[in-house]
Amino acid sequence: MIPLLLSTRNPDKVKELCDLLAPLEVAVHSLEAFPECPETIEDKDTIFGNAIKKACNGAAYSGMLCLADDTGLFIDALGGDPGVYSARWAGPDCSYQDNRRKVLLQLEGISDRRAYFRTAMALVDVSGLISVVQGEVAGFITEIERGNAGFGYDSIFEVEGIGKTFAEMSDTDKNRISHRGLALNKIIPILERIKGF
Ligand code: IMP
Repeated sequence: MIPLLLSTRNPDKVKELCDLLAPLEVAVHSLEAFPECPETIEDKDTIFGNAIKKACNGAAYSGMLCLADDTGLFIDALGGDPGVYSARWAGPDCSYQDNRRKVLLQLEGISDRRAYFRTAMALVDVSGLISVVQGEVAGFITEIERGNAGFGYDSIFEVEGIGKTFAEMSDTDKNRISHRGLALNKIIPILERIKGF
Protein backbone atom coordinates (compact mmCIF):
# COMPACT_ATOMS: atom_id res chain seq x y z
CA MET A 1 0.00 0.00 0.00
CA ILE A 2 1.44 3.40 -0.85
CA PRO A 3 1.24 5.96 1.94
CA LEU A 4 -0.59 9.20 1.15
CA LEU A 5 -0.68 12.24 3.41
CA LEU A 6 -3.72 14.53 3.33
CA SER A 7 -2.31 17.99 4.07
CA THR A 8 -5.15 19.07 6.33
CA ARG A 9 -6.33 18.92 9.93
CA ASN A 10 -9.94 19.63 8.97
CA PRO A 11 -11.85 16.50 10.12
CA ASP A 12 -14.70 17.19 7.67
CA LYS A 13 -12.33 17.16 4.69
CA VAL A 14 -10.42 14.16 6.05
CA LYS A 15 -13.68 12.19 6.31
CA GLU A 16 -14.81 13.02 2.77
CA LEU A 17 -11.39 12.32 1.25
CA CYS A 18 -10.98 9.05 3.19
CA ASP A 19 -14.42 7.86 2.01
CA LEU A 20 -13.55 8.77 -1.58
CA LEU A 21 -10.13 7.08 -1.38
CA ALA A 22 -11.42 3.95 0.38
CA PRO A 23 -11.64 1.80 -2.79
CA LEU A 24 -7.95 2.48 -3.57
CA GLU A 25 -5.07 0.60 -2.01
CA VAL A 26 -3.52 3.64 -0.37
CA ALA A 27 -2.72 4.10 3.32
CA VAL A 28 -4.22 7.48 4.09
CA HIS A 29 -2.86 9.71 6.85
CA SER A 30 -3.70 13.29 7.79
CA LEU A 31 -1.67 16.01 9.49
CA GLU A 32 -3.10 14.71 12.79
CA ALA A 33 -0.26 12.16 12.48
CA PHE A 34 2.23 15.08 12.35
CA PRO A 35 1.27 17.38 15.23
CA GLU A 36 4.55 19.30 14.93
CA CYS A 37 4.05 20.14 11.24
CA PRO A 38 3.63 23.94 11.01
CA GLU A 39 0.29 25.27 9.78
CA THR A 40 0.43 26.43 6.14
CA ILE A 41 -0.35 30.13 5.83
CA GLU A 42 -2.99 30.27 3.10
CA ASP A 43 -1.93 33.60 1.63
CA LYS A 44 -2.08 32.94 -2.12
CA ASP A 45 -4.44 34.85 -4.40
CA THR A 46 -6.08 31.70 -5.74
CA ILE A 47 -7.31 28.38 -4.42
CA PHE A 48 -4.81 26.74 -6.79
CA GLY A 49 -1.90 28.56 -5.16
CA ASN A 50 -3.09 27.60 -1.69
CA ALA A 51 -3.65 23.95 -2.63
CA ILE A 52 -0.14 23.68 -4.10
CA LYS A 53 1.40 25.44 -1.09
CA LYS A 54 -0.37 23.12 1.37
CA ALA A 55 0.63 20.00 -0.58
CA CYS A 56 4.28 21.14 -0.97
CA ASN A 57 4.55 21.90 2.75
CA GLY A 58 3.09 18.53 3.72
CA ALA A 59 5.40 16.63 1.36
CA ALA A 60 8.48 18.59 2.46
CA TYR A 61 7.71 18.00 6.14
CA SER A 62 6.78 14.31 5.93
CA GLY A 63 8.70 13.08 2.88
CA MET A 64 5.43 11.46 1.80
CA LEU A 65 3.29 11.72 -1.30
CA CYS A 66 0.90 14.48 -0.33
CA LEU A 67 -2.60 15.57 -1.42
CA ALA A 68 -4.16 18.94 -0.55
CA ASP A 69 -7.36 20.67 -1.54
CA ASP A 70 -8.41 24.26 -1.28
CA THR A 71 -12.06 25.07 -1.84
CA GLY A 72 -13.99 28.25 -2.42
CA LEU A 73 -17.65 29.23 -2.73
CA PHE A 74 -17.93 31.74 -5.59
CA ILE A 75 -21.15 33.80 -5.62
CA ASP A 76 -22.07 35.67 -8.81
CA ALA A 77 -23.90 38.56 -7.12
CA LEU A 78 -20.89 39.14 -4.84
CA GLY A 79 -18.47 39.33 -7.77
CA GLY A 80 -17.07 35.86 -6.98
CA ASP A 81 -16.71 36.37 -3.22
CA PRO A 82 -16.03 34.76 -0.81
CA GLY A 83 -13.95 32.64 -3.22
CA VAL A 84 -10.41 32.19 -1.95
CA TYR A 85 -11.50 33.88 1.31
CA SER A 86 -14.25 31.34 2.06
CA ALA A 87 -12.68 29.95 5.25
CA ARG A 88 -12.54 33.24 7.14
CA TRP A 89 -15.25 35.22 5.36
CA ALA A 90 -16.84 36.44 8.62
CA GLY A 91 -13.53 37.22 10.35
CA PRO A 92 -10.33 35.60 11.63
CA ASP A 93 -11.82 33.18 14.20
CA CYS A 94 -15.25 32.73 12.68
CA SER A 95 -17.30 29.53 12.71
CA TYR A 96 -18.92 27.81 9.74
CA GLN A 97 -22.23 29.29 10.95
CA ASP A 98 -20.82 32.85 11.11
CA ASN A 99 -19.77 32.47 7.46
CA ARG A 100 -23.17 31.18 6.38
CA ARG A 101 -24.99 33.97 8.23
CA LYS A 102 -22.79 36.60 6.59
CA VAL A 103 -23.49 35.24 3.11
CA LEU A 104 -27.26 35.07 3.74
CA LEU A 105 -27.21 38.66 5.02
CA GLN A 106 -25.22 39.88 2.03
CA LEU A 107 -27.72 38.28 -0.34
CA GLU A 108 -30.85 39.57 1.43
CA GLY A 109 -33.20 40.98 -1.20
CA ILE A 110 -30.99 39.81 -4.09
CA SER A 111 -32.74 37.54 -6.58
CA ASP A 112 -29.62 36.38 -8.46
CA ARG A 113 -28.54 33.50 -6.16
CA ARG A 114 -26.19 31.72 -8.62
CA ALA A 115 -22.98 30.35 -7.15
CA TYR A 116 -20.50 27.53 -7.56
CA PHE A 117 -18.10 25.56 -5.44
CA ARG A 118 -14.66 25.02 -6.89
CA THR A 119 -12.00 22.76 -5.42
CA ALA A 120 -8.36 22.98 -6.45
CA MET A 121 -6.50 19.77 -5.62
CA ALA A 122 -2.74 19.29 -5.74
CA LEU A 123 -0.68 16.10 -5.60
CA VAL A 124 2.97 16.61 -4.70
CA ASP A 125 5.90 14.45 -3.71
CA VAL A 126 9.26 15.52 -2.32
CA SER A 127 10.63 16.03 -5.83
CA GLY A 128 7.85 18.44 -6.75
CA LEU A 129 4.37 18.95 -8.16
CA ILE A 130 2.83 15.92 -9.83
CA SER A 131 -0.58 17.32 -10.74
CA VAL A 132 -3.09 20.03 -9.99
CA VAL A 133 -6.74 19.65 -10.96
CA GLN A 134 -10.08 21.25 -10.25
CA GLY A 135 -13.64 20.16 -9.62
CA GLU A 136 -16.63 22.44 -9.86
CA VAL A 137 -20.34 22.25 -9.11
CA ALA A 138 -22.95 24.90 -9.90
CA GLY A 139 -25.91 25.84 -7.74
CA PHE A 140 -27.78 28.54 -5.88
CA ILE A 141 -27.57 30.14 -2.46
CA THR A 142 -30.76 29.31 -0.58
CA GLU A 143 -32.86 31.86 1.34
CA ILE A 144 -32.53 29.90 4.58
CA GLU A 145 -30.38 27.03 5.85
CA ARG A 146 -31.62 23.59 4.78
CA GLY A 147 -30.38 20.22 6.05
CA ASN A 148 -28.10 19.01 8.80
CA ALA A 149 -25.45 16.95 7.01
CA GLY A 150 -22.13 18.14 5.63
CA PHE A 151 -20.16 21.16 6.82
CA GLY A 152 -19.16 24.69 5.90
CA TYR A 153 -21.57 26.28 3.43
CA ASP A 154 -23.35 22.98 2.60
CA SER A 155 -26.70 23.95 4.15
CA ILE A 156 -27.03 27.14 2.08
CA PHE A 157 -25.93 25.68 -1.28
CA GLU A 158 -28.61 24.05 -3.45
CA VAL A 159 -27.08 21.95 -6.21
CA GLU A 160 -28.28 22.86 -9.71
CA GLY A 161 -30.58 20.23 -11.21
CA ILE A 162 -30.95 18.34 -7.92
CA GLY A 163 -33.07 20.72 -5.83
CA LYS A 164 -31.34 19.71 -2.60
CA THR A 165 -28.61 21.36 -0.60
CA PHE A 166 -25.48 19.33 0.07
CA ALA A 167 -26.64 19.24 3.70
CA GLU A 168 -29.84 17.48 2.60
CA MET A 169 -27.88 14.64 0.96
CA SER A 170 -26.18 11.55 2.33
CA ASP A 171 -22.38 11.66 2.45
CA THR A 172 -22.28 9.16 -0.43
CA ASP A 173 -24.55 11.28 -2.62
CA LYS A 174 -22.58 14.46 -1.89
CA ASN A 175 -19.27 12.74 -2.66
CA ARG A 176 -20.60 11.41 -5.96
CA ILE A 177 -21.34 14.87 -7.38
CA SER A 178 -19.34 17.34 -5.28
CA HIS A 179 -16.52 19.66 -6.33
CA ARG A 180 -14.15 17.63 -4.10
CA GLY A 181 -15.35 14.30 -5.49
CA LEU A 182 -14.99 15.52 -9.08
CA ALA A 183 -11.47 16.81 -8.41
CA LEU A 184 -10.45 13.57 -6.72
CA ASN A 185 -11.78 11.55 -9.68
CA LYS A 186 -9.09 13.26 -11.78
CA ILE A 187 -6.36 12.42 -9.24
CA ILE A 188 -7.32 8.75 -8.79
CA PRO A 189 -5.93 7.57 -12.18
CA ILE A 190 -2.62 9.27 -11.30
CA LEU A 191 -2.53 7.48 -7.93
CA GLU A 192 -3.26 4.21 -9.74
CA ARG A 193 -0.29 4.80 -12.05
CA ILE A 194 2.00 5.70 -9.13
CA LYS A 195 0.95 2.47 -7.39
CA GLY A 196 2.06 0.56 -10.50
CA PHE A 197 5.66 1.88 -10.44
P1 IMP B 1 -10.46 25.50 2.68
O1 IMP B 1 -9.70 26.79 2.60
O2 IMP B 1 -10.29 24.63 1.49
O3 IMP B 1 -10.20 24.77 3.96
O4 IMP B 1 -12.01 25.79 2.69
C1 IMP B 1 -12.54 27.06 2.79
C2 IMP B 1 -13.88 27.03 3.43
O5 IMP B 1 -14.83 26.62 2.47
C3 IMP B 1 -14.05 26.06 4.60
O6 IMP B 1 -13.75 26.64 5.81
C4 IMP B 1 -15.52 25.75 4.53
O7 IMP B 1 -16.25 26.75 5.20
C5 IMP B 1 -15.81 25.86 3.06
N1 IMP B 1 -15.86 24.55 2.41
C6 IMP B 1 -14.83 23.82 1.93
N2 IMP B 1 -15.28 22.69 1.38
C7 IMP B 1 -16.62 22.72 1.53
C8 IMP B 1 -17.65 21.81 1.18
O8 IMP B 1 -17.45 20.73 0.61
N3 IMP B 1 -18.91 22.19 1.48
C9 IMP B 1 -19.19 23.37 2.11
N4 IMP B 1 -18.27 24.24 2.47
C10 IMP B 1 -16.99 23.91 2.18
